[in-house]
Amino acid sequence: MFTISGANSIAGHNSRAGTVTFTSVDPRTRTSGHTPFYEATPTEIDRAAITAAASFEITHHYTPSRLAEFLDRVAEEIEGLGEDLLTTADRETALGIPRLTGERARTTGQLRKFAALLREGSYVEAIIDPAQPDRQPAPRPDIRRMLFPIGPVAVFSASNFPFAFGVAGGDTASAFAAGCPVIVKGHPSHPATSELFAHAISRAVVALGFPSGFFSMLQGASIDVGQGLVQHPLIEAVAFTGSLRGGRALFDTAAQRPRPIPVYAEMGSINPVVILPGTIAARGETLASELVASVTLGAGQFCTKPGLVVMLDTPESRAFIDMVRQQMAQRDPGVLLNASVEQGLAHAIEHTLALDGTETLTGGSTVEGGGYCYANTVLATTSRIFRAEADLQAEHFGPVTLFVLCESFEDMQVTLTGLHGNLTASVHASDDEQADAAQICDVLREKVGRLIWNGFPTGVEVGYAMQHGGPYPATTAPASTSVGMMAVKRFLRPVAFQDVPDALHPDALKNANPLGIWRLVDGELTRDPITES
Ligand code: NAP
Repeated sequence: MFTISGANSIAGHNSRAGTVTFTSVDPRTRTSGHTPFYEATPTEIDRAAITAAASFEITHHYTPSRLAEFLDRVAEEIEGLGEDLLTTADRETALGIPRLTGERARTTGQLRKFAALLREGSYVEAIIDPAQPDRQPAPRPDIRRMLFPIGPVAVFSASNFPFAFGVAGGDTASAFAAGCPVIVKGHPSHPATSELFAHAISRAVVALGFPSGFFSMLQGASIDVGQGLVQHPLIEAVAFTGSLRGGRALFDTAAQRPRPIPVYAEMGSINPVVILPGTIAARGETLASELVASVTLGAGQFCTKPGLVVMLDTPESRAFIDMVRQQMAQRDPGVLLNASVEQGLAHAIEHTLALDGTETLTGGSTVEGGGYCYANTVLATTSRIFRAEADLQAEHFGPVTLFVLCESFEDMQVTLTGLHGNLTASVHASDDEQADAAQICDVLREKVGRLIWNGFPTGVEVGYAMQHGGPYPATTAPASTSVGMMAVKRFLRPVAFQDVPDALHPDALKNANPLGIWRLVDGELTRDPITES
């Protein structure tokens, strides 16, 4: 392991003449910190990739239980960082101690859940089609298939979840669970936080005797570090959370390599919420408060923030929108993560308002004062304009939502049919509206990775069944998830063995099933051993 980073680097890169440095900025005051963080050089990127590849030669033989022990140890080391982690991250992100405390529990919890997945063992998807030597007209060979780690993974940590999608976040945890070495490109918005996580992981690497290249972190505030990493021939896959522009650029870079590799980029999403009239009548006031809470949670800097609300154009809908407008205007806007988020949001809203036919009901400007801040904003337009203007589907990353009013139920269906890919969609309907809602769900299911009934999408449960993904532009890989236990599948690659002697099979595929895992044998799920006939 080595960490290329700041003045407090455990690798001791304290004075590296000639290298580029950057500092973190306190979002509440816009003041820069004093600690310089070093941007990784091309030589250091190369060294990280070479040691990762060398460590893979060793770790791809590690058993799931050894990897599980490592994940548990990383979780313990993170807990051992104590309050310092929370105060450092709060200073760099302004997310607040309560939110960060919850996010830390989520981060250690997901590491431990991946450990449990490994101990259960069936994630390798062992599938066995035993030979049928007497089959006519031709004998069937013995074919056995399972998943193996893909190799060194480059992880781009996100700005908006410094823990759960940070250096030791879900992408790193799932790549480790797969048995893959990880090189993290730390987000320049919270370099000291990244450094603390890197130390925690490094301690686990040493304590459990893993090869040093199993984990590295590269810091950097320019795109060169990330580009260099993705272009490196020893990197086998990329995980990314951030902007559509960044994710797409890295996807294109990976595709242009002489040997392209998969890029699992989770990018922008507007998370449409459809509200049918019956729910406004039944619980309009509560619904308005819940919507405002969801839009403004974390200053709207959630990939699952509801950025689009689709309703029928009725007097009741207009009254509902006015309730939302009032609550959004009354609520103090939160501090944004950094200058780039504030500027990005200001540009996105400016662009939206330059399009004909979109109105600002409240907000629509940055808030003067100490920190990075944008007013809680409500925009509104009609379904005709929304359909005509693809740019209205762009993400407004911050406390902003856009209402779209439809002329009829049919108009609503057509409007929803034109939606681009999203992470989530939510449908609010009363019991009497289930038939209409079913039709809406049918349309939305084609557009998203997760459908929510009478709820809001902001919270993303970390579990076995979670799907956090969706068709482009929400992600570059709609068949995968970046949250939940199935995220491990992104870093595993199937291999089939044909007519290989039993002794040469990996344990998961051996006749005796020594691991006792669930396997699909001749089309049936079983944990039974295979008896030779
Ligand atoms: P970002 O600009 O996409 O950056 C994320 C990471 O990718 C950073 O480490 C960045 O490195 C790197 N990167 C970006 N473009 C790159 C390129 N062309 N080549 C190589 N590396 C590249 O995201 P962000 O800084 O977190 O926030 C900016 C905007 O992203 C927000 O305003 C928001 O619109 C969006 N965002 C969306 C989500 C979501 O979940 N949908 C989450 C966070 C942010 P450098 O910083 O070193 O350039």
